[in-house]
Amino acid sequence: MPANSPVPIPSLFLDRMSTFLGDEFPAFSKAMNGVPRSGLRVNTLKLTPQQFKTIAPFELGESVAWCPAAFSLTGEQRPGLHAYHMAGLYYLQDPSAMSPAELLGPQAGERVLDLAAAPGGKTTHLAALMNGEGLLVANEIKNKRVGHLAQNVERWGAGNVVVTNESPERLADHFGPYFDRVLVDAPCSGEGMFRKDMGARQDWSLEMVAGCAVRQKNILHVAAKLVRPGGHLLYSTCTFAPEEDEGVIAQLMEDFPDFEMVALPQFPGFVGGRPEWIGANAELSGAVRLFPHRLEGEGHFACLLKKADGLPREHVGVAWSSGLPRQLAGLWRGFAAEVLQVELDEERLQVAGERLYYTPELTPDFGRLRIVHAGVWLGSFKKERFEPAHPLALFLKPGQAKNRHDLAAGSPALSAYLRGETLPAETSGWTVVTVDGFPIGWGKGVQGTLKNHFPRGWMA
Ligand code: SAM
Repeated sequence: MPANSPVPIPSLFLDRMSTFLGDEFPAFSKAMNGVPRSGLRVNTLKLTPQQFKTIAPFELGESVAWCPAAFSLTGEQRPGLHAYHMAGLYYLQDPSAMSPAELLGPQAGERVLDLAAAPGGKTTHLAALMNGEGLLVANEIKNKRVGHLAQNVERWGAGNVVVTNESPERLADHFGPYFDRVLVDAPCSGEGMFRKDMGARQDWSLEMVAGCAVRQKNILHVAAKLVRPGGHLLYSTCTFAPEEDEGVIAQLMEDFPDFEMVALPQFPGFVGGRPEWIGANAELSGAVRLFPHRLEGEGHFACLLKKADGLPREHVGVAWSSGLPRQLAGLWRGFAAEVLQVELDEERLQVAGERLYYTPELTPDFGRLRIVHAGVWLGSFKKERFEPAHPLALFLKPGQAKNRHDLAAGSPALSAYLRGETLPAETSGWTVVTVDGFPIGWGKGVQGTLKNHFPRGWMA
């Protein structure tokens, strides 16, 4: 069956929801048969929501009440294919899925862990809320999904993200209680996605709900060990099943008495947790539930916990020796002086093989953990020269490159560039190609032409 051909919503699920919701059920059921909502979250590392509004090439709806950087989207539009998307100006996301990062509230300069991160919706959001400062470890256990996460992070142009491909257990063994804030956006039965994900409808069963709850408890128990004393842990799912929501938190609080609930703010349309659905402690009403009949978004659950203050956090030393070998430092400095108009802190430069990275300011020792992406891949050393990498272009802000070749959104020249074609251009050497001023890739000016360095893997 094709991925999204209609599948009925499981009747057993509807029966359960009818019991849980009582009088509210008809409105819920009607909403579940309606159209899924979508939203667009502006990348505040690159521009403000107000600036984006003035250049938006498609219709934007209302601002999302719980996410000041986001707008709801209406109608038949395909912003995922626009060049602004390739330049990392926004992330497309269900408005409800924008709540966890906002509710966790990371601050610039903190150490934050996104434990189940692919494809990166919440990672990109956390990175923007942190203003690209501090350390954000975005982890994905599944090999197959981690590449997509790394690409979304690169497009976003944040300099503070390290992507790892690890199990929660190995992270906890290595780091211990290291992070100021940990997000567990857990794998779940996906009931809240039934409007848009026919696969979730098809796979659903009560056994699956029970299996997810066991897995979630295991993940959350490990996550708890990664939170520093006095730090915060946010647990979220996109399911309505109380076994996977309040039930998982109730178990955590029983097993880890040093965690307490932090009552979450209730934005318009949010309602509190429903401990009574599962016979849990009334305190769990401090969690939030997002229902599609109460707001413009899909189903979600979020709960915030705080770990008691205690001994200072465990210290994991700073990792990689800083400083480049002399010859490589010379190649990099030559490139930077000729091409860039921004000072990058040399202490943060790291070489891995032929590649040069700009690592987050707070990069700890990752020991033998599998790192997929660390900060910004600046480029590669090739014999006697340094060649910039695509993620460096996306990391640069408007005006941070000396040579730039600006193309207008929707222009034939931009389409040609994104197809990999050579363009006529009066520029010489490494040049940042921009779309309406926003960096989107590299070109190299040679004798009246701009050689194309837009990577194939990034073409739409
Ligand atoms: N936070 C992501 C976002 O906003 O784009 C979505 C995360 S998705 C709901 C849950 C993720 O958990 C999946 O990428 C899945 O591969 C991962 N996962 C599955 N089993 C896991 C486990 N045992 N431990 C940690 N993560 C797991």
